[in-house]
Amino acid sequence: MSERTPAPRGPAPHAGGPPGGGLPIDELLALDREHVWHPYGPMPGRRTPLVVDSAAGVRLRLAEPAFGNDELVDGMASWWSAVHGYNHPVLNAAARGQLDRMSHVMFGGLTHEPGVRLAKRLVDVTPEPLRHVFLSDSGSVSVEVAVKMCLQYWRSVGRPGKQRLLTWRGGYHGDTWHPMSVCDPDGGMHHIWSGALPRQVFADAPPAGFDAEPDPRYAAGLRALIGRHAAEVAAVIVEPVVQNAGGMRFHSPGYLRVLREACDEHDVLLVFDEIATGFGRTGALFGADHAGVAPDVMCVGKALTGGYVSMAATLCTPRVARGISGGEVPVLAHGPTFMGNPLAAAIADASVELLLAGDWAGRVARIEAGLRDGLAGAERLPGVLGARVLGAIGVIELDHPVDMAAATEAAVRAGVWLRPFGRLVYTMPPYVTDDADLALICRAMRAAAEAG
Ligand SMILES: *Cc1c(COP(=O)(O)O)cnc(C)c1O
Repeated sequence: MSERTPAPRGPAPHAGGPPGGGLPIDELLALDREHVWHPYGPMPGRRTPLVVDSAAGVRLRLAEPAFGNDELVDGMASWWSAVHGYNHPVLNAAARGQLDRMSHVMFGGLTHEPGVRLAKRLVDVTPEPLRHVFLSDSGSVSVEVAVKMCLQYWRSVGRPGKQRLLTWRGGYHGDTWHPMSVCDPDGGMHHIWSGALPRQVFADAPPAGFDAEPDPRYAAGLRALIGRHAAEVAAVIVEPVVQNAGGMRFHSPGYLRVLREACDEHDVLLVFDEIATGFGRTGALFGADHAGVAPDVMCVGKALTGGYVSMAATLCTPRVARGISGGEVPVLAHGPTFMGNPLAAAIADASVELLLAGDWAGRVARIEAGLRDGLAGAERLPGVLGARVLGAIGVIELDHPVDMAAATEAAVRAGVWLRPFGRLVYTMPPYVTDDADLALICRAMRAAAEAG
């Protein structure tokens, strides 16, 4: 945001509180600008970020008011991860309990209960036959691990020529090198690297619409493309049901069944990147569940720890694990320093348990209904192409690139934190967002769409 409302400047509210607190806000922002790189931003930053002092429930508390608000309802759930809201007593207790035992020990040669419990829980909640779990530190790394598993599987079973990946356009799989190579090659944020990245095989983006009948021509084209490249393709990788950071587009689960059949027919592995869609976001526990198919490899992240700390996981089937472990190099040569971090694992285990113990499906369905109500008619706003809702995801698509500063300001004025991108003003709120806050988010989305 380019400007903030003038406000009396003083020490941040927690002066004298936690270690490191008490930095005057002007100084904090000057240091931030001078030294701190922010996501997808230039250095030094051109926009002044809002300073968050604390967060509880669905609200971010600002260190000083912005456009008249010192609290914002978080429509982003911190990039879709904080599904239980902030400062949750159950997750806080899990973190504290683990902190008093040990925050971290290496996973090489050692193991621990939080890591084992979490792995077992992930195996229990994901589709059969995903039975083996590789824990890592972030979503992008979990995708790197998935790619390594697939390439190494084929190498190990005597087909080393299968080294490429196949995906459909419009996807997003992370910011490290191999994930970048399967992000949307044109519209995505990594297109300048197309000459430097491994060259993958791209199908057209799946036809839009979750409820639409699968288009037989598109499906036939997808099958044919997989067949044509089967000798060099190790795996197909897609985000099931919703393409997220690539454009918030929904597609029919039917295409996932087409991918499963074509992959089986042509000896290609199937990877579902469920980092955004996992843990209930689309109305099913996993995107794969809408289609009733199981991938060979699955990535989860984001909501895995309820948004508390960074952790991700790559799951695979016994077939993939046995293939790798019976090969010429019979190990998966990957082992992040903080692999299986006990603190993250304890929080993740508590977060998934909390999700399953509550009525997550009812909550997501209630949010879906609230978003449908709140966004009804938004497609008639000037400059708006359409609006769509699936599960706890609400999207307004403009007919032009959004003016992010103006849109964000309009949302903040309305008391809501949104972070629009591309042509999209969207929300992926915490599942604990109540109806009144949901209505507020929808009003802010309309205001942001009009301003942006
Ligand atoms: C966010 C995301 C990633 C990358 O996860 P990070 O934790 O940011 O590295 C990968 N795939 C999908 C589908 C995502 O939404």
